[in-house]
Amino acid sequence: MGSNNDSLIAYNVLKKKIINAGFCTQCGACEAACPVSALQIKDEKVNRLHDCSKDLDLCPICYGVCPHSEALLLRSLSFVADAPVRNEVVGYYRKIVLAQATDRKLREQSRGGAVVTSLLTYGIEKNIFDSAIVSQAEHDNPAKPKASVALVPDDILSAIGSKFFPSSVAKAYGSAVYGYGKTKIAFVGVPCHVLALRKMEAWQHKISGSMKITIGLFCFGTFSLSNLLDHITKTYKVKPSEIKHMRLSSKFVVQTEHDVIRIPMSEIEDHILPSCRTCTDFTSELADISVGSAYPLTDWSTVILRTKAGEDFFYEAVENGIVSTWVIEKEPNVMERLIIAAMQKRSAALKEAKKIEEVYGYLPVLMLRESDELAQIKVEDIMTKNVTTVPEDISVNQFLDIVARRRHIAYPVLNKNGEPIGIATLEEASKIAQASRKDTPVSKITRTQPVAAYPGETALDVFRKMEKHEVGRVLVLDPVNPKKMLGIITKTDLMHILTNAAKT
Ligand SMILES: Cc1cc2nc3c(=O)[nH]c(=O)nc-3n(C[C@H](O)[C@H](O)[C@H](O)COP(=O)(O)OP(=O)(O)OC[C@H]3O[C@@H](n4cnc5c(N)ncnc54)[C@H](O)[C@@H]3O)c2cc1C
Ligand code: SF4
Ligand code: SF4
Ligand code: SF4
Repeated sequence: MGSNNDSLIAYNVLKKKIINAGFCTQCGACEAACPVSALQIKDEKVNRLHDCSKDLDLCPICYGVCPHSEALLLRSLSFVADAPVRNEVVGYYRKIVLAQATDRKLREQSRGGAVVTSLLTYGIEKNIFDSAIVSQAEHDNPAKPKASVALVPDDILSAIGSKFFPSSVAKAYGSAVYGYGKTKIAFVGVPCHVLALRKMEAWQHKISGSMKITIGLFCFGTFSLSNLLDHITKTYKVKPSEIKHMRLSSKFVVQTEHDVIRIPMSEIEDHILPSCRTCTDFTSELADISVGSAYPLTDWSTVILRTKAGEDFFYEAVENGIVSTWVIEKEPNVMERLIIAAMQKRSAALKEAKKIEEVYGYLPVLMLRESDELAQIKVEDIMTKNVTTVPEDISVNQFLDIVARRRHIAYPVLNKNGEPIGIATLEEASKIAQASRKDTPVSKITRTQPVAAYPGETALDVFRKMEKHEVGRVLVLDPVNPKKMLGIITKTDLMHILTNAAKT
């Protein structure tokens, strides 16, 4: 060993493309996965403890498992791809429900549904898990998350509530396996944390076999700890040790012993980590179970059940009276806000990613890249033929009812002759004021001249059209009679092809 060929050592790429470029979110997956313990997260950065090229000639691991690298993405997606529903902005899933802990005190402490805390506590008590990876609050700086290995229910309770700063949960996962010898671990993290763990699973890293269940949180972004706390100290004269907790509503709320400060997001958005600006995943698309707020409902959470294992575990907790559920279809506002938040995060991230590509010459993580696989497949073989359409004369209110029931975010609009005149989207509908929705026809929000594809074209042609016109779907038209629609293809359909190809 001891080759001087540094180019085969992934750390060099990790350092250049992720760490130095400011994309690291301090998850600690690189530290946990490194075979020679060469890396350590400390003081908000990744430190190299020794030169690993002295130990190994070749090692692709740390860059591969980093959630901000393009490696292993499709293989990671395949862990959830068996779910029956695939939605463009919330990913693959079995079911979406509203849920809350039956213990009211827990809900008060969490300021949400306390679903995560209840599920973890139940799992530990019933020995379904032997440990859980959680983010507790640092004793002398309660806003700061401390990633820890929870072994008993009290450890889980002390992690209740969200902390809006990076947490090195993947590093804690490594400690659970190496330090505590745990083999049935429940993991909680934001989408990039879950992706890091899925990448380890895709890599078949030896520590990934101890993962029992992943609970992913919804995430708009995390703040730089030092920058945001500095800002709060300077602007509001509040020291970090005086902060009791922080929460997100329409504003960012900082609670101290004697005061509540409500900060507009626009004032602090510059302190969000750079990686979050190109992150497309709002709902932890790769988790077994995803949990987020159920705004405007206060003490409920939105729960997305993605894998069979996640669904079985969740309903076991429901049957045992730990968590109660409610039908999300009865709360159309919650569903609308969820889809819009996910859609806005994705489209902002894609725009930012394009800008970054121009500056750095490469694209940060995006879930779909051009691929040979796409060139092999004909449009007619993958288009959805049984398309849900809407007539041009229904109201925006009626359109939103269809969105809530069918869960797609866009629908072809047909004129009286049954010909497609364009596409109406949830995004455009939501811009119409509530009071006017009843009297506004859907044709008013229809994007006319939709992008068209034809049955003989390839999936790669379709992908290029989507990129060129910056759209997520194309209508498939009959080449002989272009007023006749034969089907529709979305970007998610293309990703599904690649995911299935990666599985084989
Ligand atoms: C950084 C961040 C941003 C979020 N953004 C949104 C959003 O925009 N919209 C939305 O609907 N929901 C968002 N959430 C999720 C939301 O705040 C709740 O965490 C989620 O609804 C679960 O609620 P609960 O009451 O079931 O959780 P609880 O029972 O209170 O449990 C919360 C769990 O979160 C874990 N946790 C706390 N902070 C972190 C952290 N920094 N990193 C990893 N794990 C952590 C704890 O270990 C704990 O187990 C965000 C969460 C975080 C951490
Ligand atoms: S030995 Fe560790 S630091 Fe070096 S390339 Fe491999 S994972 Fe990265
Ligand atoms: S794996 Fe995590 S800690 Fe390591 S460079 Fe990537 S984001 Fe940072
Ligand atoms: S926005 Fe994305 S990159 Fe940023 S913390 Fe959340 S999941 Fe990670």
